[in-house]
Amino acid sequence: MIKSLSILLLLLLSTSSLAVTQASIPPGKACEKIAAKLASVGLRECRNIGMKPSGYLSSNGFPILVKEFPPLGSRIPKGRILLVGGTHGDELSSISVVFKWMNTLEKYHSGLFHWRISPLMNPDGALQKKHTRTNANGVDLNRNFAIPNAHNSAALDYWKNRTYQNERRYPGPYPLSEPETNWLFKEIETFKPDVIIAVHAPYSLVDYDAPNRKNAPRRIGYLHKNLMGTYPGSLGNYAGINLGIPVITLELPHAGIMPTKSQISHLWTDLVRWLVRNL
Ligand SMILES: [Zn+2]
Repeated sequence: MIKSLSILLLLLLSTSSLAVTQASIPPGKACEKIAAKLASVGLRECRNIGMKPSGYLSSNGFPILVKEFPPLGSRIPKGRILLVGGTHGDELSSISVVFKWMNTLEKYHSGLFHWRISPLMNPDGALQKKHTRTNANGVDLNRNFAIPNAHNSAALDYWKNRTYQNERRYPGPYPLSEPETNWLFKEIETFKPDVIIAVHAPYSLVDYDAPNRKNAPRRIGYLHKNLMGTYPGSLGNYAGINLGIPVITLELPHAGIMPTKSQISHLWTDLVRWLVRNL
């Protein structure tokens, strides 16, 4: 009797702890982890931004948080912009810089554009003690997107034959196998962005993927145009080439060192200037 009771108790305990790990961490708690990891993002700063859970969790159950700067009553926005940082967990500057831009929008959002912003697409890769490019399943999220006009194994074949199975670039077993890419896939489908901006590091350049690349920005802040081409399973390939939604990729020069305040602000003003000219 005692034995069966203790087994029951054990079962109850294990299901409740499972429920805890599966439930989404509230945004305030998530901010604690983000601020503890990123020296350049304060706890209050993170909380004040007021990000909301997207409804999607990373593999380890961390919420993918989104902040929306919606249209304001007084004007029709010139376009919808999706801004994403922290696709690769070891590119910490790409997360912090997006936080700084959200602060700017907190102060100055004028309704010029409708923004949806996620500073940290890959929390499992970024927030662990030894951060990794890949997510918790060892998948490079920027190789895990849908590949509409190719075979499902295109990214895996490319990885095997062209990258010599570099484990930092493992595309996952099949397109959209990961919850984080499922979130972005859904976000693109529902929000229908006119432009997507993805922040990365450390190649110090601006890349641009779209069916027509003549509008590629020549320079954004201190980053100069350098068109790299796309890979099967990358966001640029999926959204830029296949869906025809221009993708601006900003590669900051350092993954672990923040740009200066004035560099962050020049990047922002040049981005907005490009959007105004092109939308
Ligand atoms: Zn990257």
